[in-house]
Parts: sequence; C-alpha cells; structure tokens
Amino acid sequence: MSDLRFASTRGSAPTVTLSEAIRQGLAPDGGLYIPTRLPTIEPAALSGTLTLPEVACATLSGFFAGDPLKQMLGQIAEAALDLPAPTTAVAKASDPLFALELFHGPTAAFKDFGARFLAESLQFLEQRSAQPLTILVATSGDTGGAVAAAFHRRAWVRVVILYPKGLVSARQEQQLTCWGDNVRSLRIDGTFDDCQRLAKEALLDPVLRAKHRFSSANSINIGRLLPQMVYYAASSLDVERRAGARTSYIVPAGNLGNAFAAVWARALGFPIDRIILAHNINRTVPDFLRTGVWQPRPSIATLASAMDVGNPSNMERIRALYPTLDAIREQLSADSVNDATIRARIGEDFMHYGREWCPHTAAAAEVYSRLAPEQRRDRPWVLVATAHPAKFNEVIEPITGKAVEVPASLDRLLRLPRHFVDLPPTLRAVAAAIE
Ligand SMILES: *Cc1c(COP(=O)(O)O)cnc(C)c1O
Repeated sequence: MSDLRFASTRGSAPTVTLSEAIRQGLAPDGGLYIPTRLPTIEPAALSGTLTLPEVACATLSGFFAGDPLKQMLGQIAEAALDLPAPTTAVAKASDPLFALELFHGPTAAFKDFGARFLAESLQFLEQRSAQPLTILVATSGDTGGAVAAAFHRRAWVRVVILYPKGLVSARQEQQLTCWGDNVRSLRIDGTFDDCQRLAKEALLDPVLRAKHRFSSANSINIGRLLPQMVYYAASSLDVERRAGARTSYIVPAGNLGNAFAAVWARALGFPIDRIILAHNINRTVPDFLRTGVWQPRPSIATLASAMDVGNPSNMERIRALYPTLDAIREQLSADSVNDATIRARIGEDFMHYGREWCPHTAAAAEVYSRLAPEQRRDRPWVLVATAHPAKFNEVIEPITGKAVEVPASLDRLLRLPRHFVDLPPTLRAVAAAIE
C-alpha cells in the first residue's frame, strides 16, 4: 500500500505524515488535518469475531501506510483500546433498537478512546525528547478528565486543563482535578468559550512558545478521530450479523468529532446506513443543514454540557470531504433537543425500557422517538451512548427516583483528593500558572 499524506482543510500548509499530523494537532494555517485520499480497508481481515484492537489494525492500517508509527499500530491499539464497547439491545423496545455503550473506560465517556490512543501514539513519538511536551486542553467536562487519565504519570508530558467554574457536573469536576503529578487543573472564572480562547492564545503566544513545547489534545487532533472510527466499524459489523441489515446511528453531537468518525467509517465501506446528529439547543449545525448558512455563535449552557458548542470545529473536515450543501445533506441530518425534553426523555425511557441515559444520550433517544414509525420498524437503529449516567447523577436521580450505580473505576476516582487553582479568564493568569 502506498504512503498516505495528510493535508490541511484550509489548503495552505504543506502535507505531512500521520506522525507529524498527530504531533502538531492543528495545521500551521489553522486548518485540520485530513488524509489526501481515503484509504481502503482489508475486508478479509474483518471476518469472524474480533477484538477492538484487531478491528483497529484492519481498519486503520491504511491511515498508517508509510508512517514510522505503522509498526507500532498493533501495540498502540492493544494498549489504548483494551476497553469494552458493546452494542447492547434495548430489550423492551418493540423495534430493533440498540445502544453503543462508549462509557466503560476509566473516565466513563467516549473521550477515553481518543485520549488513550493519542497518548499511546505520542508515547512512541515523544518518549525520547529532551524537553517535555505541554498539552493544553480546554474542556467542557469530559475531554479534560479523559486526557488527564490517559497522560497521567507519563514522564515526557505535562497536562494543563482549563475548565469553566460552575459549568461542569460535580463528578466531572472531580475527574478533572483528582490527578496531581504531571497534571495541572485550572478552574477558570468564565465559560467554555473563554477556556478555549485562553488555550488558543497560550498556544500562539510567542513568549510562552519560547519556553514550552506545546501540543493540543482537543478533537481537532487526528490521533483522537482515528480510534473513534474503530468502534463504529466493530459495532456496525456486529449489528449486521445480529440484525441482518445495515444499521443507522444517532450520535450526540457537539464538536462533531464522534459524528465525523461515523461518517468516515461509512465512507470506508462499513455497513452504516443513516447518521443523524442529536444536538442540544446549540443549533449551529441543524440550522446550517436547514438554511445552508453557516452561522457560528456563542455556546449556551445546557444539561448536556459536553455538547455546548456554538462553533463545531470538525465541520471543517465534513465540508472538506463533502464540499456542497447537497452532498452534506445526503450524508447527515441533524436535530436539536432542549433541556426540558432531555429530562422528559430520561424519565420516559427509564420507565419504558429500564435504561438510564446520560443527558447527551437522552438527546439521541429523543431524536429516535421523533422518527416516523415506519423508519423505526424492521431497520436497526443504534443510539450512541456517549457517557455513563453516573457522571450526571444530579440530573438523573431526581427524575428516576433511584440512585445511579457507580462503576468501580469511576468510584475510585471519586475518592481521590482534588487539586486545582482558581483563575480569572486572562492569558496573564494562565501563563503564570503554566510556569
Ligand atoms: C464530547 C461529548 C459529546 C460530543 O462529542 P463531539 O465529538 O464533540 O461531537 C457528546 N457526549 C458526551 C458525553 C461527550 O463527552
């Protein structure tokens, strides 16, 4: 297989190898890296029952073609994707309905897959560097914890987390602050948009750049998107075997990293039918698909806080792959769900199915309930369950009247002491804290 290069979505940066794209995160022209062509998969390598690392090797080897990391792909996948990602039937549903459970990792949200794969990849690229890497990560709740868990106690890296004070759940905050060692948690008196702005300003600040080697672990990094394709590959093959048909996914969406991975998996040829994005009231994408006008706006705080994104960065990748509005509309549809409806859906599905959804997954479940009955009948649908309900117990328990059971790995983190510093939303304060 011939070598694969990666180009910026904005087209004015040189193409790079996969290793370089992973190391850089953002391209120098401000664009996002995408492969110059879509590689092919090896169908023969995908028959029978496979583990997630085995699916990863068959699905991703084309993306690694010609890269020094290619020989390490097996080891990276073994170490990073040693997590269950079952597609479970929603037993009491009258139509074929499933949930792709992406919350069995150490921080109980799908971000664990990307963060762990990125950490294992960077380990091979960075472990012999003289100066440690500083990873800056702005988080609306789940990314920061997953990145901290994945990079904790690795000698070649420091992690600096910026999160908005009062805008993450108590258990999310615990996961952002329970690390210490090479992880520093900055609680910013501002919104997620402030945190993202500060991280960008720091990454571009000449004085700071002279002192630190920076990288970013936000979902602009292609090293996080690749492993996310793997669970769609495995899940779609699994459902095809069980239900005898191509399956459709409803994906809770914010920055569109998870959704883009589904789109890529389908483009590679995996048996995926429709992909529907479930947004909260941050409606930039649903409005774009309806009107054709791309109008980013400030984010609005909701119960599904990890989707509070007003300017989803991965749209740039979708538009690079499908340049016209019609093409995008063929690939994707999108809907929006408000907080009251998220609450109502959590209650309804707990009553009918006995399933507890986190607020993000509940948005997907609501979008499913809005499908016409003939769309639901006989055709398999999968709700992508992006976080464990125990992370959002303050929302769910008053609705269901029942304590959410806490997984053991999460329980361990909830007992650790917290370390954080409170900061105003200024670059000067962040710069001092990074020192
Ligand atoms: C990050 C996150 C999302 C949104 O995913 P994107 O890739 O940003 O679209 C949805 N649900 C949960 C629980 C998340 O942590």
